[in-house]
Amino acid sequence: MSALFVTDDSASRHQTPHGHPEQPLRHSAIMSACAAHIQEKWTKRQAPEASYEQLCLIHSPAYVETLMHELQIKAISTERLHQIDGDTFAGPDSLDAALRGAGGACALVDHVMGNGGVGFSAMRPPGHHAEPDRAMGFCLFSSAAIAARYAQTEYGAERVAVLDFDVHQGNGTQAAFWDQPDLLYASSHQMPLYPGTGAANERGAHDNIFNLPFAKGKGGAEILSGWREQLLPAIADGHPDLIVISAGFDAHEDDPLGGLKMTADDFYALTRAISELAAGCCGGRIVSVLEGGYELNALGASVLAHLQVLAES
Ligand SMILES: [Zn+2]
Repeated sequence: MSALFVTDDSASRHQTPHGHPEQPLRHSAIMSACAAHIQEKWTKRQAPEASYEQLCLIHSPAYVETLMHELQIKAISTERLHQIDGDTFAGPDSLDAALRGAGGACALVDHVMGNGGVGFSAMRPPGHHAEPDRAMGFCLFSSAAIAARYAQTEYGAERVAVLDFDVHQGNGTQAAFWDQPDLLYASSHQMPLYPGTGAANERGAHDNIFNLPFAKGKGGAEILSGWREQLLPAIADGHPDLIVISAGFDAHEDDPLGGLKMTADDFYALTRAISELAAGCCGGRIVSVLEGGYELNALGASVLAHLQVLAES
C-alpha cells in the first residue's frame, strides 16, 4: 500500500480578508506540523489543476464558466479582493488554488484506484459547501463530491461514499448526491450551525444520505459512538468501492467557529474507525481532502493525527 500526499503553493496564496478564519496560514500550519511525518511516510506530489470536464461532473457548465470568468477578470487585486458571497472571497491566486483543490482530489482517485492505498490533499479553499450551481461558505468547487463522481466515471466504481466530520454539514455534497442512488454521504456536525442543513430526517431521494447532528458542547466520546453505531454501519451496508473523507478539523475543542469538543486524539480514533471500515469494504482505498479547521495549532496536530493513521493503513 502506498500513501500519496498532494498540495501546491497556491494554497498559501489564496487570499481572504484580514481576520478571516479561512486564512493562508492554515496551509503553512499543516505543512510545518506534518513535515517530518510526510517526509518519512508519504510520497509528495504537486496537486494538478482540475479539467473543465472534472469540474462539470458535479457543477453545471454555466456555473463553472461563469465562476472561472469572474475570477479571471474580477479577482485581480490582493488589495481589493473579489467578494463572491457573504463570506467567500477571491484574489489573483484563488482560481489556481481552487482548480488544484479539485484536481488534487482527482489525482488521489487516480492513485488509489490504480494502486490501492490512501491519499490526502492539503489544499484550500475547502469545498463541501459549494453546491452544483453556487459558491458559498468559503468554498468554490466541491472537491470531495467531484472525486467521488470521478471514481465512478473514470474507474467504474459502482458506489462511492463521502464521510464528512467537519463541524459544519456539507450542504454542497448533500445537494449533489441527493438524487444519486450510488453516491452515499454521511456527516456528523453541530446543529444548529451554519449552513443550517443536516437534520437527521434529510435522507436523500434513495435513503443514500445519513446526517447525525450534535448539540453544541458534545465531545469525542459521543461523536465517535455516533460514527461507530450509526454512520459507519449505514455506509458499510452500501458496500462502497471507495471512501472519500471530507476531513474538516473545526469540531476541535479549540476551534473558533465550532462548539464541539473533539481533540486530536479523537480525530486519530475516528480516522482509525474509518480506516477499518475501508479495509473491510474497499480494500482500504481512502481519498481524504482537507475541509475546515481554523485554530492553527489544533489544525496542525489534528491533521498529523489523521495522517498517522492513514499512513499505517
Ligand atoms: Zn467547517
